[in-house]
Amino acid sequence: MAAAEIVAEFDARLSPRERDLIEQAQAFGRRVIEPAAQQWEHDRRHPTEALRRACQEGLAGIELPTARGGHGCRFSTTLRIVEELARFDFGFAFSLVNHHNALVRVARATPAVAERLVPRMLNGEVIGATALTEPDHGSDLAALTTAARPAGDDWLLDGEKAWVTNGAVAGAIVTLAQTEPGSRQRGLATFLIEADRAGFVRQVPYELPGAHAIGVAGFQLVSYRAPAEALLEPPGAGLKAALEGINRARAYVAAMCAGMLDAALDHAVRYASRRTAFGRPVIEFQGLQWSLVDADTDLAALRLLAYRAAQQIDAGDDADVSAAQAKKLAGSRVLGHLAACVQAMGANGLRADHPLMRHLNACKIAAFTDGTTEMMNERLGKLLVRRRAGNGAGD
Ligand SMILES: Cc1cc2nc3c(=O)[nH]c(=O)nc-3n(C[C@H](O)[C@H](O)[C@H](O)COP(=O)(O)OP(=O)(O)OC[C@H]3O[C@@H](n4cnc5c(N)ncnc54)[C@H](O)[C@@H]3O)c2cc1C
Repeated sequence: MAAAEIVAEFDARLSPRERDLIEQAQAFGRRVIEPAAQQWEHDRRHPTEALRRACQEGLAGIELPTARGGHGCRFSTTLRIVEELARFDFGFAFSLVNHHNALVRVARATPAVAERLVPRMLNGEVIGATALTEPDHGSDLAALTTAARPAGDDWLLDGEKAWVTNGAVAGAIVTLAQTEPGSRQRGLATFLIEADRAGFVRQVPYELPGAHAIGVAGFQLVSYRAPAEALLEPPGAGLKAALEGINRARAYVAAMCAGMLDAALDHAVRYASRRTAFGRPVIEFQGLQWSLVDADTDLAALRLLAYRAAQQIDAGDDADVSAAQAKKLAGSRVLGHLAACVQAMGANGLRADHPLMRHLNACKIAAFTDGTTEMMNERLGKLLVRRRAGNGAGD
């Protein structure tokens, strides 16, 4: 099945409103991201003004309930929107979806917090982020050490977070912290951290070739006082809540890799059809053509898995296997296919006039976000044993 047919079939199941929003995102990608993405990369900066523009044009409230000013769309719409935006720049799409996720979470905070922050996040005045990872703890989240201790009705937080998407500019950060040192999952709680409060210390954004638009940075909390209303998930519920969103993230990151590969194939096939060597278009050399056929074949498989995960998530079904398989395929195969697209364009494929090298770097980065390829194998291994060896095994 052709990769484009899979998209058409998937989109046909969405509502007209959802399809309109995807078309709006495509137009935004062509109009705002495509002409500027290489400049953001050159300037090594977060595209805050473009992110705000996306918010003002309604792209931040995809799944936010209509009662809160959003579109109330399904997860499938979010996935398709970030897939389309990643065709132009993975970093921008990742920044937007992380802002969206924080916005949707903040909308479920206490009414006072939601009323104060949701309008400002919807229009991009306040940028959202999620902070789980720490300098010493990534895959093993339950080991994190950022400490939260009660102080009257408030909480006092101390610690350091690392690798926060939008961390360069974020104002509202959904943050996982430990309330009972050494207790792992039992003491983990979620807090809303606001960057304009005393005790929040932002760090210098990381140099991240190919994805400066993600605006990754860390921050420190130094006797940061969080009011009672900032407790989003109580102790014991923090890790579960963080992991509940993980299949969504795995599915959309896989779809974003599909978007980058699809765009790279368009560039490579068009270029190789025009470029001649030894008296014929280079696309006619079988070795070159077959490398692109391999890429197109995996693209179709990747989309089928990512879209299946999205449909399962929207139906409330278990998406563990399809989301992890999609993310694993994206993390392990797309990089080589993007390199093949660069190869098909000869040395010109290396130039920043095309997005291919940016996509190549971004694809390597995508293999770490929301769980590494090894962690996909860990999860899939447990599920494989449980499925094939019977209940109880593999836990
Ligand atoms: C661009 C970018 C944006 C990010 N944004 C965010 C964000 O917004 N919020 C956030 O909280 N985090 C974010 N992260 C962090 C990301 O979630 C972590 O990088 C990821 O969880 C892996 O953690 P780590 O990098 O510390 O690797 P580690 O956990 O230190 O792992 C090191 C290596 O060991 C391997 N490994 C670990 N455990 C096992 C095991 N059991 N079996 C086999 N191999 C294993 C890993 O796969 C990896 O290859 C971001 C990362 C990147 C690159």
